[in-house]
Formats: sequence, structure tokens, C-alpha cells
Amino acid sequence: MQDQILIEMTGVQKWYGGYQALRNVDLTVRKGEKIVLCGPSGSGKSTLIRCINRLEAIQQGSIVVNGHRLDDSKAIDVVRQDVGMVFQSFNLFPHMTVLQNCMLAPIRARRISKTEAEATARKYLERVRIGDQANKYPAQLSGGQQQRVAIARALCMQPKVMLFDEPTSALDPEMVKEVLDTMIGLANDGMTMICVTHEMGFARQVADRVIFMAEGQIIEEGEPGAFFRNPQHARTRQFLGEILAHH
Ligand code: ADP
Repeated sequence: MQDQILIEMTGVQKWYGGYQALRNVDLTVRKGEKIVLCGPSGSGKSTLIRCINRLEAIQQGSIVVNGHRLDDSKAIDVVRQDVGMVFQSFNLFPHMTVLQNCMLAPIRARRISKTEAEATARKYLERVRIGDQANKYPAQLSGGQQQRVAIARALCMQPKVMLFDEPTSALDPEMVKEVLDTMIGLANDGMTMICVTHEMGFARQVADRVIFMAEGQIIEEGEPGAFFRNPQHARTRQFLGEILAHH
């Protein structure tokens, strides 16, 4: 079961109008793998993960998630249930409490009862250590707390894989750690994860593979030790140099 493939991208090409954002991307993600995706701004990282839950359509190639091909329109709802997503800007519903935010999608998409949805929501809110804030509205929480709610909300759908799109880059520095610690906890529990992040300490600590993208292509990938110690491409070395100079 360890070798079960959850995501298979083959020859993926993606254009926004005349601009090619993904160039011939091949990526295989197995159950339990933790992948960190890095690269300069505009290199296609966000586009890549948005294609995996079909927030963006691709024009060529194929993406198979847990056995479902994404170009099969009937599969999209199934795939969205299997794939949890956490955005840079939290995307919580402001007019709903934390608890209601976490109950909405399971009731609508998984058609479970309110009682069950509430029990699940409370369980995951406890897990991200925010159970005591369940009745507050998002605006009453700090950014770090809101992002932990967003993680709990995604977990309530019991996804097979979690996608993170720069989850800490909108946060004040003192809140980054609480969100990274939550993600580390998830990783240690065995969640399959693809994380777009520039937090290289996180990459070293949890990633099985670090993937470097530039100009819509996967340039190189490796386990973090080798990737950071001995990057193969000049473009990767330049990027890592810039990142390290910033941190
Ligand atoms: P990254 O996540 O690496 O910063 P993105 O995937 O967000 O990169 O963007 C890749 C490229 O595609 C960028 O040049 C960006 O301007 C472009 N792009 C992203 N989203 C859109 C869109 N909705 N419409 C047109 N161009 C887009």
C-alpha cells in the first residue's frame, strides 16, 4: 500500500490565453509522500497544484487523482473530496463561525448529518489546537489561527491528499511557526502533502522530495539533503542563494 500512486501527472501543458504556464510536467505522488514545491515567483507552482483539484483546467496531458482522470467531468466532485486545499489567504467565510466554516462542505458534499459534521469539525479543530475558538467569527482570530481553521476545514472532508499554496506567506512572522507546526503534525501523522512554500527549514524537516520549478517546468528534484547540499542546475543554485539571503 505504501507504493499506491495518488497523483499522476503526465505531459501536462497549461496555457493562460497565449501564455504557457506549465510545460510538459510529469509528477507522480505516492501515498504518504510529502513534497515541497519551490521556485521563483511566476514559475507555475500555484498553477500546478490548482490543476490537481481542477481549479484550473489543463490543455494537454493527463492528471489522475486516486484513480480518477480529471478530464472526466463526473470525476471532479469526487476528486475535490479527495483533495484538500489551503490557500495563502485562508478563504474562510466571514459570515460564518469557525465551526460553521468547518461543517459546511461535509454536509453539502458528503451529505453527512449535522451532528456528525459537528463532531468531525470539533475533532479537527482540537487537532489544530483551536477547539476553544469554535464559536468565533474569522475576523475575531489572528491570521495564524485563521490559517489553522482553514487546515481543519480541509481535514473535515477527510481528504487523501492536502495541497498547500504558500500557507504562511500572508502571515506575520510570529504566526508562521504555529502554522508550520500544524503542518509538521499532519506530515508526522502520514498525510500525503504537496506544499508550495519557501520555508526551507520545513522542507528539510518533512519533505521526502523537494521539487524546483522555473518557467513552467520541473527543473530538478531530490531528497532535501542532496537537493540543498548539491543542486544540479545553475538556476536552482541561484534560487537557493536568493532564498537563503532573504532568511
Ligand atoms: P507561482 O505560483 O510559481 O508564483 P503561478 O502559477 O501563480 O506561479 O503563475 C505562473 C504564471 O502564470 C505567471 O506568469 C502568472 O502571471 C500566470 N498566471 C497565473 N494565473 C493566471 C491567470 N488566471 N490568468 C493569466 N495568467 C495567469
